[in-house]
Amino acid sequence: MGMVMLRTIRAQQACSERWRRRGLRLGFVPTMGALHAGHLSLVAAALRNVDRLVVSVFVNPIQFGPREDFHRYPRTLARDRALLSRAGVDVLFSPAPAAMYPPGFATRVTVEGPLVAGLCAPWRPGHFAGVTTVVARFFQVVRPHAAWFGQKDAQQVAIIRRMTQDLGTGVRILVGPIVRESDGLALSSRNRFLDRAGRMAAPALWRGLQAGRAAIRRGERSPAGVRAAMRRVLAPVSPVRVQYLDIVDAETLQPLYRLRGRVLLAIAAFVGRTRLIDNLPVRVPR
Ligand code: AMP
Repeated sequence: MGMVMLRTIRAQQACSERWRRRGLRLGFVPTMGALHAGHLSLVAAALRNVDRLVVSVFVNPIQFGPREDFHRYPRTLARDRALLSRAGVDVLFSPAPAAMYPPGFATRVTVEGPLVAGLCAPWRPGHFAGVTTVVARFFQVVRPHAAWFGQKDAQQVAIIRRMTQDLGTGVRILVGPIVRESDGLALSSRNRFLDRAGRMAAPALWRGLQAGRAAIRRGERSPAGVRAAMRRVLAPVSPVRVQYLDIVDAETLQPLYRLRGRVLLAIAAFVGRTRLIDNLPVRVPR
């Protein structure tokens, strides 16, 4: 049986309900489309673990700030559809914004507290509320048993885990590793915005993360010291402008005063006009 594309909430609800009644295990991979090998790695992992897989392609307007790139975000639905069909996905769910957010829609699902205190949150006000709202809404419609997310968006993963636990939706959250280009650049739908100079410079994020890890392995245990090692790699690279460069506890995302346990090195930087993020979990030797 081939893949079907569904565009309405009701069609997806009916489909998920039929499958559930048959006792099938449903998987879900939410995306904003412009698919690349990172997305497809989550799809492949999901396909190995469920009976039916729904992948959404939805550029979620409410997770973009007013000065962000919602309008120019890449939209390549025909290509995405072909890739997902070939991968063996059962349903491509691609609702219109007006279907997800009909006139009068006024609800936000928000996670508060320490998980939204640092990293991307202060730089993108409202972003994670937009993400949790759309994911909660998708979970209600798709009703998956398990959903796959990428480590690329580490803070998003932590926030969604918190939300599913708090709401008791019973969706298992699974995480796939970051897929990278051969020069280390983490795959992102936004990489296509990079011009030649930007594309050449962008792997500096990955090299910065590696420099941070190397510093830890050499015995550096102060976040300031690790940050300095990362900055030494990034500072000379043009057109890279670091927005933040952080070392936090990998579990709680809280700042650390002395590095121990599992930590997360995380970077956000503008490469020209394009904002990229990357991160690297590191186990600190005892
Ligand atoms: P997006 O379409 O950017 O919203 O991403 C959809 C999902 O794919 C999210 O869970 C991302 O974390 C994940 N993802 C994006 N880029 C990568 C990557 N390079 N490797 C693995 N997962 C990724």
